[in-house]
Amino acid sequence: MANTTSWKSRAVTRPVEAGNSAICAACDQPVKFAARVKSFQVIANVYDNGKWNRVEHYHLECYEAAGEPYGAVA
Ligand SMILES: [Zn+2]
Repeated sequence: MANTTSWKSRAVTRPVEAGNSAICAACDQPVKFAARVKSFQVIANVYDNGKWNRVEHYHLECYEAAGEPYGAVA
């Protein structure tokens, strides 16, 4: 078996950047850059049946509140 890679949904945290316009998949609010607050977003690569399906964005606190649906953030 050459291909043992298993494509799974996974999530990482990233600092929110200026000009970011993603919408949080949990609360439907923009994941906005705030100059004075160091805020983090969660970017989840969602795989469906082993194929990449979409990217979802979350506020870090929303992702944790949702029970980390795509696993613990890296
Ligand atoms: Zn949110």
